[in-house]
Amino acid sequence: MVNLFSHRKLPYAYPRGILTPVRGRYWHLTPVIIYLLSEITEVEKPLLQKTRILKRAFTLPVPWFRSTRGGGAIVLGTRKRPLIIFTENFFLREIYGRNARYYGNRLDVWLDMLSHEVGHVAQLDRIGAPAKYVLSFAWQYLRTMSHNRAPLEKEAETGRKRYRSFVHHIRNKGLMKEYYTLLRADSADEAKISQIRQWITEWKKASQTKNA
Ligand SMILES: [Zn+2]
Repeated sequence: MVNLFSHRKLPYAYPRGILTPVRGRYWHLTPVIIYLLSEITEVEKPLLQKTRILKRAFTLPVPWFRSTRGGGAIVLGTRKRPLIIFTENFFLREIYGRNARYYGNRLDVWLDMLSHEVGHVAQLDRIGAPAKYVLSFAWQYLRTMSHNRAPLEKEAETGRKRYRSFVHHIRNKGLMKEYYTLLRADSADEAKISQIRQWITEWKKASQTKNA
């Protein structure tokens, strides 16, 4: 039996390079990640700039995924203040135990998940009736404990497919190590973005050729 409360005493961590803490209450995506996700998923930058990332807390009992089964994320909030809430295991590091579901330092898992969730942020902005929209989603998560084949899910999934295609391109070029090193580096955002821009341009060119 899973004990969700066992996580409470563990020190939490967040993935550097992806998130910036804001007043110790929530996180924003870093400018580099906003650039990357926006270019790849086509979700608008201003929307990603105002998106807050939160860790699920007991005062915030969603998404009701079990962290030990991989956990997940859910988009809540309003158009003005979109929230992406991740389960605790996304803020725990593997060094705290031999748990493969501790994603606190897993940029690959974070970005794969974010490339899907930002699609829901765009939907929240487009539909603009947060209560109704969000409640239906919350119930979906609670009832099914998984994503279903709803059109909104399929739509959000196209962003993830595009991101996976980009990662595939990076891997084919033998640049995986460089890619994650760059994201974690302390170098200036402009330098990071300029490198990422180049990779994205190459990826877009390559996928056009393939689809022609
Ligand atoms: Zn989804």
